[in-house]
Amino acid sequence: MKEYDLKIAQSGFAAGTAFVITQPAGTGKNGSQEEQKEVDRNKELLDFDSAALSVRNELESAAANAEKENASIYEAEIMLLEDAKFSGAVRDQIQNDSVSASAAVERTGNALADELGKSGSEYISKRSDDIRGITGRLLAALNGESEHALKEPSIIIAEELSPAMLSSFNREFILGIITVKGSPTSHVSIIAGNLAVPYVYGSDEAAAITEGCRVIIDNGKIVIDPDDDTYKSAVKRMEEEKAEKKQAEEEAAGGACRTRIYANIAGVQDIDQLVASGAEGVGLFRSEFLFLGRDSAPSEEEQFQAYKKAAEAMAGKDTVIRTMDLGSDKKADWLDVPDEKNPALGLRGLRLSLKEKDLFKSQLRALLRAAVFGNVRIMIPMIASSWEVDAVRSMIEECSRELSDEGVEYKIPPLGIMVETPAAAVTADILAEKVDFFSIGTNDLTQYTLALDREAQGMDEYYDPCHEAIIRLIGMTAKAAHEHGITTAVCGELAANPDAVKELIKAGVDELSVSLPKINATRALAIKAEAEINEEMEAESGEIHDEPNLTTAPEAKEVLTDEMQIAAPADGKLIPMEDIPDPVFSSGTLGECIGIMPESGTIYAPCDGKVLLVAETKHAVTIKADDGSSILIHAGIDTVKLGGKGFRTFVNGGDTIKTGDRLLEADLDVIRAAGLSPMIITLLLKQ
Ligand code: PEP
Ligand code: MG
Repeated sequence: MKEYDLKIAQSGFAAGTAFVITQPAGTGKNGSQEEQKEVDRNKELLDFDSAALSVRNELESAAANAEKENASIYEAEIMLLEDAKFSGAVRDQIQNDSVSASAAVERTGNALADELGKSGSEYISKRSDDIRGITGRLLAALNGESEHALKEPSIIIAEELSPAMLSSFNREFILGIITVKGSPTSHVSIIAGNLAVPYVYGSDEAAAITEGCRVIIDNGKIVIDPDDDTYKSAVKRMEEEKAEKKQAEEEAAGGACRTRIYANIAGVQDIDQLVASGAEGVGLFRSEFLFLGRDSAPSEEEQFQAYKKAAEAMAGKDTVIRTMDLGSDKKADWLDVPDEKNPALGLRGLRLSLKEKDLFKSQLRALLRAAVFGNVRIMIPMIASSWEVDAVRSMIEECSRELSDEGVEYKIPPLGIMVETPAAAVTADILAEKVDFFSIGTNDLTQYTLALDREAQGMDEYYDPCHEAIIRLIGMTAKAAHEHGITTAVCGELAANPDAVKELIKAGVDELSVSLPKINATRALAIKAEAEINEEMEAESGEIHDEPNLTTAPEAKEVLTDEMQIAAPADGKLIPMEDIPDPVFSSGTLGECIGIMPESGTIYAPCDGKVLLVAETKHAVTIKADDGSSILIHAGIDTVKLGGKGFRTFVNGGDTIKTGDRLLEADLDVIRAAGLSPMIITLLLKQ
């Protein structure tokens, strides 16, 4: 039994047998290191051809079964397999240098990967990953192994793992991952997080683990070849933890929190899981995946169908679609982008969209058309300056004029930005005047703030997603947003980080947008964090409420008054009708009413019924209750003056609602800053 400390990319506990992935040339224990002195060239050529054929079949079936964005990675490897520069060079070496097929594959893979790695272009050097991938596959095939033989729950061991390889495995069988090289911000780490399995890396000892050996991952510690008792109790612990986690998630699924929990999706292939996930909306649709792994750009019509499908599936809930965030590590092969020394600081995100205007217009037109079918919101990535927002707005106007002239139905959706450069966070007050919402991309914000490449190897001690600088920038962004009556989401990995959720909510973040498997766990974290924050605030203010606080709907059981047998639509202090500072209500002319001085701005349905009307200025909702009465919920006094600023609605006219459903959210700071009372009026309209 041996124990080692590794670095944690994804924490967790797992116990299982090792499934060792054959490493690419020269790096792993299974790589063919030795040339044969004398070889039968014809036999080696035949061996190479049959290995290439079996790898090709393997890749084709993986591409056919993979989601679109991953399929492109297999296709790139297939192209490489057919490329004369690779396969031709292998054959030449077998023929001319009289080396074995394994040695020729290894030499060629090494030489090509090194050559590309030195190119200075991130894009080209990424191709060296493909070369390493295909080299490893060929060596495995030549050694009579299959990398796709993961047939039972196992812990994956590799020198280095590519996202393509990881996503080619049956996800049910992945218990945990151990690699020699890795990074917590890599795509492999993000995939491991989505699968909710532990992933540790950073020790050469991992390369010494042999196939079938028993392994335990206990957060940062790995135990190799534990004794029987240790292993059995570890397996038991893993199963118990899984069951506890499942139960905790099921419990969390029913809870409610003020913070909105939204989903990150990569395309329409996620829609079924999205609908079942309990997400309150889509906070990030990474549209660039529609543009990757293909030979040409998707047409406007193809994009329209995809965006429409997502909007319709969300049935009126927010569907935030990010415009293509291409460039840097997400290069579309068909798009001619110059090589750059630092592509993450170059032509990526909106910068590329503004260069490729026709392409961008096709996306904007598709988004405007899809907005007719749901609550589409457009979000632009990589903003650093406010003129960039102006440029997008004028392109949206141009697209809307064209669509009008063509007689095509469209709607101009709200426009938001990703705050993922320090420049955007620091000037959030300026940008907030120009947009309808913010969403903080903490993956890139961390990269740019800490000057730390997302894919960098061996820089972990510098990587701190909860760095005070990041938390301050998030706080500045949320504050500026609230002062301007708009909301702030976090859609980077930090949104689901158990160490960060409370800090984010404290900093004023309104929404956490996370990958689909993390929805319930994040909601549970937010519920706990909100309760702790409330307790801390109460303890700080030392306030004892002499009036009873109403419980937050949907748990509200109280009735407001004898006349109004309905639940409280918000937390707060009850104010009798005669004390409401607006004669329209206090006179009782419109009907019986009651005020609540709210503690938070979330307003819930006080009864089962149907929404009759949502005010255009979003400050009021009228409901037809199931008992036939009509109820008006009015957020704030005179707040119609705000013209919608500071309000968000979650329902539309005609929606069926249940007691406790969220109706709208009022930003109390915005209302108070405008010199108005945030008192919520519940009015039983005279019939
Ligand atoms: C981010 O940068 O945090 C983000 C959500 O965008 P992506 O990870 O797609 O760059
Ligand atoms: Mg980003």
